[in-house]
Amino acid sequence: MSSIPISLLDIEEDAGTSLDPEDYQKKEGKWCAGCGDFGALNAVKRLLAKEQLKPEKMAFVSGIGCSSRFPHYVNAYGFHGIHGRALPIATGLKLARPELDVFVVMGDGDCTSIGAGHWLHATRYNPNLTVLLLDNNIYGLTKNQTSPTTPQGYKSNTSPKGAVLPALNPLQTTLGISNASFVAQTADWVPAHLYATLQAGFEHKGFSFIRVLQRCPKFTPDVFTEQVKNPDLTELLIHENGVTAPGLDKLFKSQRVHDPKDIDTARSLASRTDMLRLGIFFRDESFPVYDEIRAVPPVTAEEKVQKLEKEFDRYAV
Ligand code: SF4
Repeated sequence: MSSIPISLLDIEEDAGTSLDPEDYQKKEGKWCAGCGDFGALNAVKRLLAKEQLKPEKMAFVSGIGCSSRFPHYVNAYGFHGIHGRALPIATGLKLARPELDVFVVMGDGDCTSIGAGHWLHATRYNPNLTVLLLDNNIYGLTKNQTSPTTPQGYKSNTSPKGAVLPALNPLQTTLGISNASFVAQTADWVPAHLYATLQAGFEHKGFSFIRVLQRCPKFTPDVFTEQVKNPDLTELLIHENGVTAPGLDKLFKSQRVHDPKDIDTARSLASRTDMLRLGIFFRDESFPVYDEIRAVPPVTAEEKVQKLEKEFDRYAV
């Protein structure tokens, strides 16, 4: 166990050698019944069990919002940060503790509004983080305010006559940033795809940006209803370097072969609004990874003191 206090939450040490998904559940999730955040949490727990990640070797960082309660529910180090600041916190953590697997969980308001500047620059820095954008198209925690991804015309407490602007497209935005290395979209109501996408993002070296279309039965109950009822309204992106999972072939009749290395087609597909698309839009591991470029060789406490003494001596009078 590190002596550096990176956690604001308690953690159980030595959870055993073989961990099941339920071993990673710290507390019961306090979300509304039917909330898509439960599906995301289940997929995460499955991934952690599959990888047998040790709770003391990983951290979950979040901002503010319904989905940002995630670190409270996962048996790992956690940092429930401040609004919009999950990414700089996670980047700093990864730089200081490169041996940790670091996950980031944000909502659409958190990431694409107050945290938008951090989102753009974290994408460009490309640190080795697994990032979940749980996008329910609304501010849920603060009870129904329009977010940047709220569909135009959708009514909320802040837009009683309907959102006046076209929604921001997080995939299109991320794919427009230089050094973006992994961009995918999945949905909470397709658990096999959600899990497989999470796995692919976790295995990717660099900033894995995964937008999870997330149902909020409380405030945006109808934004994904048609797609949930009718899989024909969703197109699956398939490729040998993409996401595959049992049963998806049968569920989705509409499929498109898309090479995740093809950035131009990825951008074009991301910009289209004719149907939902699930899959890996872009993936390239050849891009610079910030925590590798800026890696600092480990030093002992004694060496740190020596360096400090040397620095003080430089200014001795
Ligand atoms: Fe989930 Fe929406 Fe309830 Fe928040 S308000 S917990 S996003 S259903």
